[in-house]
Amino acid sequence: MKQVSIEKIAEEVSGHIVNQELLREDINWKYNNISIDSRTIAENDIFIPIKGDNFDGHNFISMAYEKGAMICFTEDKSRIPSNQIGILVSDTKKALKDFAKYYLSLFKIPIVAVTGSVGKTSCKEMIGSILSVKYDVHKTIGNFNNEIGLPLTIFKLEDRHEVVVLEMGMNHYGELHRLSEIARPDIAVITNIGEAHIEYFGTKNNILKAKSEILDFLKKDGLVILNGDDPYLRKLKENIPFNTLTFGFNDDNDYYISDYKELGWDGLIGKITGTHEEYNIKIHTLGKHMLYNIIPGIIIGNHLNMTANEIEQGAYSYKPSKMRMDRIELNDNIVVINDAYNASVDSMISALDTLSTLDTQGRKVAVLGDMFELGDMSKDTHTRIGKVAATKNIDFIICVGKDSKYIYEGAMSNGIDKNKISYYKTKEELIDDIDELVKAKDTIIIKASRGMHLEKVIERLQSIF
Ligand code: ATP
Ligand code: MG
Repeated sequence: MKQVSIEKIAEEVSGHIVNQELLREDINWKYNNISIDSRTIAENDIFIPIKGDNFDGHNFISMAYEKGAMICFTEDKSRIPSNQIGILVSDTKKALKDFAKYYLSLFKIPIVAVTGSVGKTSCKEMIGSILSVKYDVHKTIGNFNNEIGLPLTIFKLEDRHEVVVLEMGMNHYGELHRLSEIARPDIAVITNIGEAHIEYFGTKNNILKAKSEILDFLKKDGLVILNGDDPYLRKLKENIPFNTLTFGFNDDNDYYISDYKELGWDGLIGKITGTHEEYNIKIHTLGKHMLYNIIPGIIIGNHLNMTANEIEQGAYSYKPSKMRMDRIELNDNIVVINDAYNASVDSMISALDTLSTLDTQGRKVAVLGDMFELGDMSKDTHTRIGKVAATKNIDFIICVGKDSKYIYEGAMSNGIDKNKISYYKTKEELIDDIDELVKAKDTIIIKASRGMHLEKVIERLQSIF
């Protein structure tokens, strides 16, 4: 980590040093890591205790010192032993963000921020793959995209890094505003405006408003990259004072997909026509919607002076993350597509599309679980998915979970043969029956919101096949 003096850290987080007299100049105050988790604290870390719903990190301050923490932040001065140095702040969560904002400002490198309803992680990973051909890239680890994850990602920046790519998620107003304030991006990407978190926002226009907060702290000469096939983002382009480039399948976008082919398990090939050049890419992932997620990386590569050849090479090196269209082979030629990381209307439909167009040996089976955070719209949305599922080239559909009953009913109302669909109220009941439902050579996609834990179904399949 870049080193900053303890006095400077305290100043940046509007804090006061506790037991400042211990801060002697003959001691080497070099910290290793910033940690919010006392379990992983190591020698010379800075511990920032966070108050969660079920626990208060302040209870672990003494343990952190015992494990060798150099300094602990605290909202309560009495937590700091008389022989230790602390930093007293009014709000540790805010201090974490203030410190991250300052830490990031020490790096004079391009900062890329990615948000959107679906595809953030995929897009961020693809940007990372492309830029890594030429630059030393630091990017959000996994899905660490909120007000805790973003600071922790930032603290992993090292001097050698040449560009940083940050995923930003939100489910309330103000969150992206605060994340944007920490990051102050040079480049902002919005993948799409879907229906994720509509429970809270009510309308897509409101979701657009919340997503647009990513631009609140974009640098004045910054670049905005928007999915131009999305009518809401098209409208946004007209109303923002930034240099903006759009992408999509429609040929009126600045960067558009002029040709593509799905090669099943071999991935996708596509020709992207840019403002100056053409890019012939091959990506190792299923689903043509992934072509959307690769273009921001192409645009940014071009913006950061990479050649078409380097960009194509980077796209080729992309590898899908775990639980996102992840192929698992079992015995009896059964293939499981683990897409159980999360689910929204848009990603459910893209998963159904992908399965139905896939060249498979045997049956195509979809295990569809509940989509969370849909509120009043849950029944209608699940019903809609059922209606769509009934029209796809899928041999057997298994609905599992409370609200997935409406997927079942939607499919039935759209005329699906009742022998091609079944419903289970809980995953435990499904797990009990799964050996009878699955046959040799099946290709099975597993899709639901994270909280459904449908990976348990996969574990069961792995234990029997
Ligand atoms: P989270 O909100 O959990 O961070 P995310 O926005 O990072 O999600 P990903 O993890 O990249 O999104 O993808 C989630 C799911 O959405 C995957 O099933 C993926 O295949 C699908 N998906 C990705 N991009 C699109 C897209 N443009 N249109 C429809 N579905 C998509
Ligand atoms: Mg994500």
